[in-house]
Amino acid sequence: QDFKGKYPKQLWGLFFSEMWERFCFYGMRGVLTYFMVTHLILENGGHMSDSQANLQYGATQAFVYAFTFIGGLFADKILGFRKSLFWGGILMIVGSAILAFDPFPESNFFLGISFTVIGTGFFKPNISTMVGALYKKGDARRDAGFSMFYSGINIGALLGGYACIAIGKGQLFTSFIPAEYTWNVAFGLAGIVMTISLVTFIFTQKTLGPIGLSPFKREDNTVKKFTEADSFGTAPAEPTKVALTVKSGKAWYEYAVYALTLVLIPVIMAMVAKTEYTDYFMYTIGPLTLVYLVYEMSRHTWEESKKLIAALVFIVFSIIFWAFFEQSGGSLSLFAAKNLNNVVAGTLTLDPNGVNNAANSVFVIIFAPIVGLVWVAMAKKKIEPNTVVKFGLGFLFLAGGFYTFYATRFFEVIAGSGIASLDVFVVAYFIITFGELCLSPIGLSIMTKLSPQKLQGVMMGMWFLASAYGQYVAGILGAGLSEGGENDSLQQKLITYTDGYQQLALYAVIAGVVLIAISPLVRKLMQDVK
Ligand code: GLN
Repeated sequence: QDFKGKYPKQLWGLFFSEMWERFCFYGMRGVLTYFMVTHLILENGGHMSDSQANLQYGATQAFVYAFTFIGGLFADKILGFRKSLFWGGILMIVGSAILAFDPFPESNFFLGISFTVIGTGFFKPNISTMVGALYKKGDARRDAGFSMFYSGINIGALLGGYACIAIGKGQLFTSFIPAEYTWNVAFGLAGIVMTISLVTFIFTQKTLGPIGLSPFKREDNTVKKFTEADSFGTAPAEPTKVALTVKSGKAWYEYAVYALTLVLIPVIMAMVAKTEYTDYFMYTIGPLTLVYLVYEMSRHTWEESKKLIAALVFIVFSIIFWAFFEQSGGSLSLFAAKNLNNVVAGTLTLDPNGVNNAANSVFVIIFAPIVGLVWVAMAKKKIEPNTVVKFGLGFLFLAGGFYTFYATRFFEVIAGSGIASLDVFVVAYFIITFGELCLSPIGLSIMTKLSPQKLQGVMMGMWFLASAYGQYVAGILGAGLSEGGENDSLQQKLITYTDGYQQLALYAVIAGVVLIAISPLVRKLMQDVK
């Protein structure tokens, strides 16, 4: 195999596999909140309140990203990245199938969601780490690789985010899908697409050499030559043929992981369904991982530990970022459903929920490559901001976006109607997208740069664990914004939501300024890493 070229050809396999996985994930995620308040039938026969749906949404998303940490750990220690990814994909397909079969009763719904949650945990971090593994230390192509990968993520998110909600709401393929089955088809589509993702990966893995093999296999003599050049972040020094079917005495560990996952399903189901349990889980997992990190630091040199501390600063700030940004699937989704107008463009009616799910992705796909070029151009003139300052800028853009969400209240379609302009809402997404581009792809890349070889998987898990906390806090913030508002007039809702967005904007400004102020300090910790 060969990891050469502007973009290594293996990157494209990972790109498409992740693209289809994100279709499934964002397709499902994009319908969650709306589905829970309008169609899900609770045991008491009713539907969920807006505020409860926000909490529930936050809980599922928190678990998804918390399990990426666990999925990363199991991959490091037992399964290897490939098998983890594959197992995750299968669980996601099963989850979608359950939802496609009958998503309406509460019990079935949470069963399907739980499969998807844990499946994503096994899939998501490990594909990102494999992207990092295509590049050797110091390879200048790494950031560009992650940017490209990030575009793939968003193509999937866009297609899935739009298609699933539009099908579910009965706006797409209406002549083929009977009205009473639209939601079944929406969830079923996610499962079909996830199958495409796995098939893509099956073809890709043949070209990956030793990347992502199980650690037991790496211990075997046959693969020994590659142990220093394994899936923990570097490409093989000398790519050679590798036997993929090495016997291992410890194979039963692998089956133990599979069995454990299945045992965990009812536990996750209980935890997602009762958001108090999510609270306990979130209180525990963060401190535990911190203890683990300190233990790892004690086994590494001070130089390496300083880099890990810098990584932790990025991780902590990313929690705040996602807590605000991720209003998109929660409160902004409900805001879109109630307080925004449909826009008719020619023969096409743009539904605000579809736009809410898709706008960000469209902007990422268009602007990720452009932002990448801007960094390169700035680097040539030696004025490229360092990663800490980029993160700071990310927050300032985020603030600009939330001030614009706030400003929607001044752009009512008809004065006093409580229905605000979808156009202004889209402008807000345009602005926060630049915030995301200053933070998210760069975050993935910086994790693979700051982590020592053996901690690549764990640190990627930590990065996504920050997203878990972000999502969790996002749910709480969103619930606060929509609390008790069910009976409010549309105009009152518009005021409540936008007041909240104004506050978030202010906090984002503060976070950005703090980051830029402490940037010299963090840079010292990062040493040679830029
Ligand atoms: N939108 C990106 C993705 O889905 C980042 C998500 C995150 O890290 N919270 O991969």
